[in-house]
Amino acid sequence: MNPQDPPRPGDKSPAWHPDTLAVRQAVERSPFGENSEALYLTSGYVQPSAELAAKRFSGEEDGFTYGRYGNPTVASFEQRLAAMEGTQAAIGTASGMSAILMMCMGLLQAGDHIVCSRSMFGSTIKLIGSDLARFGVQSSFVAQDKLSEWQAAIAPNTRLLFAETPTNPLTEVCDIAALADLARQHGALLAVDNCFATPALQRPVAFGADIVMHSGTKYLDGQGRVMAGALCASEALVREKFLPVLKSAGMTLAPFNAWVVLKGLETLQIRMQAQSAQALALAHWLQAQPAVCAVHHPGLASHPQHQLAMAQQSGQGGAVLSFDVGGDAPEQARARAFAVLDRLQLLSLCTNLGDTKTLAAHPASTSHGRLTEAQRQAAGITQGLVRVAVGLEHLDDLRGDLQQALCAL
Ligand SMILES: *Cc1c(COP(=O)(O)O)cnc(C)c1O
Repeated sequence: MNPQDPPRPGDKSPAWHPDTLAVRQAVERSPFGENSEALYLTSGYVQPSAELAAKRFSGEEDGFTYGRYGNPTVASFEQRLAAMEGTQAAIGTASGMSAILMMCMGLLQAGDHIVCSRSMFGSTIKLIGSDLARFGVQSSFVAQDKLSEWQAAIAPNTRLLFAETPTNPLTEVCDIAALADLARQHGALLAVDNCFATPALQRPVAFGADIVMHSGTKYLDGQGRVMAGALCASEALVREKFLPVLKSAGMTLAPFNAWVVLKGLETLQIRMQAQSAQALALAHWLQAQPAVCAVHHPGLASHPQHQLAMAQQSGQGGAVLSFDVGGDAPEQARARAFAVLDRLQLLSLCTNLGDTKTLAAHPASTSHGRLTEAQRQAAGITQGLVRVAVGLEHLDDLRGDLQQALCAL
């Protein structure tokens, strides 16, 4: 903020690779010269003059004014994430869901229409399909992988297409470039929830997406410590559409959480590579287990969009897999899934993902528990489905624990 301050690392070498930016991109150091990024805990900022305060509050000049509007630690996280996603700017939020709320509040008004994949994150479906509907925002939910359904759902009032790829928990993949074309043809924007792949494996703007949405709670933190979220987009969208919502609605990212996630970004690349490799190895092993009737992971050749996933993502398909233990009736399938989950000794029974600890969950009764049975069926979330977010424990130990748990069946 001060012209005498040293330039930002990114300004010196804009051609640095994403791995370097993940470690180096941040706001300038304070005059103390700290090497590790500082955590600034302050709700207000002392202004050099009333004149400058007025200019900062009006947005005529850059500068921090009040904690709800901005913070240097949060700004470091935003700059680093934007550099990694390849967008001009980013804006941090208190959680992934508040990022989605900010996006919808910034871009939509009563009477506008949004098209989403019907296999999106459970709370996303609830927020857009129910809560925003009360404010007059119309929505359609379509099959993630069927471009014709996205096309058919578009109406003259469609402003936004919103996809998640790979999806939670079935790891369905959609063609980002094709959706970006479709959005452009109809004067709409494309937003992509990039929680599962992260910029370490997939950069949606490289395929034409306008907005990348994140839950920082997941892989960006990487160790299951804090809630955080972000939208990455052009400077114009961030400044003109999202920042005004942040200022009035206050879904601000806490500086401490921003600092945790900022440091998490430094190891994102190696964690994603290692955890994806483990997930693919476990997925292959699960396919050979007699008690398992289906395994979902984009790295498997049997995955319906395997080719597309490999073209759109680097790495081995991400760290989340799910598997189905089957069952004749829904109640029986649920009992089978519960039996496996309750026998786990190493894997945590925990409805979260993106941790270095491997987590297992029953989507139908937790992350997707608030959906109606019809919505769940449309999304393909069966009662026998178990999701595993693979961490960094030794593969033999993970396999051993799953093997003894599957003996319950
Ligand atoms: C967790 C998650 C969200 C919501 O993020 P929170 O930080 O929990 O609010 C959105 N999308 C996906 C794919 C997620 O996994």
